[in-house]
Amino acid sequence: MKVSVLGSGSAGNAVLVVAGETRLLIDAGFSARDLARRLARVGCEPHAIDGILITHDHGDHTRGMGVYARRHGTPLYVTDGTRRACGKLLRGAEEIRPYRAGHPFEIGAVRVEPFVTVHDAADPVGVAVVDRDTGCRLGVATDLGRPTAGIRHALSGAHMLVLEANHDAGLLHCAPYPPSVKARIASSHGHLSNEAAARFALDLMHDGLVGIVLAHLSRESNDGRIAAEVVGRALRGVGWRGLLEVARQDEPTPLYDVVALRERRGPTQLALF
Ligand SMILES: [Zn+2]
Ligand SMILES: [Zn+2]
Repeated sequence: MKVSVLGSGSAGNAVLVVAGETRLLIDAGFSARDLARRLARVGCEPHAIDGILITHDHGDHTRGMGVYARRHGTPLYVTDGTRRACGKLLRGAEEIRPYRAGHPFEIGAVRVEPFVTVHDAADPVGVAVVDRDTGCRLGVATDLGRPTAGIRHALSGAHMLVLEANHDAGLLHCAPYPPSVKARIASSHGHLSNEAAARFALDLMHDGLVGIVLAHLSRESNDGRIAAEVVGRALRGVGWRGLLEVARQDEPTPLYDVVALRERRGPTQLALF
């Protein structure tokens, strides 16, 4: 399994997962043209995408879904609630494949396990994606609200995580937002802070976790170095030596090879256990 965060933040989100011959996009929060440009950066043709899975109806996850699906004939995997909330983006010509949280399904070589989140959208989900050939398991949890026991369970055993680290509590306090917006971001239905991401990463820690990409960083109230420092300090404290990266808004990450990361790492002993 290979994974690239094509871009992440409040201006757009998309994650590419490659498993064998299967290529899956999780969210399409950039214009169709921008998505194609970002895919080209990691060596993927736009028509080679086997499906786009939409996690929720917010524009930073859906912006290009309709145009992309029509232009390239790509099936859209959406829940009924999200489809209703995204009506303006759809023309009826798209191939819609409905799914429901709690009901795993397969797209080519990958098994998708969608789970409910508590984010302030119509029908929000997060996903775990499993490469059926290699057993590699990826968890994608960006608009989380708060990490419930159900989310923790759904993400347990992941070898790689794309995990939200939205804001630094101190920077959010000083950010130029109205108080109502600050309250929404920090609420239990908004986004995880760096500190909350660090705690959640520790909750999800196990010997097989080889990589974490911090994502959905706020431009105004976070900084990649601060997020990496806060989460990295917590993880180093338990002896973790995996790959810790920060996704950017404007550029894709490299295409991380999860199998190679697992082989390179080998068995490790965490101070937790
Ligand atoms: Zn959202
Ligand atoms: Zn979002």
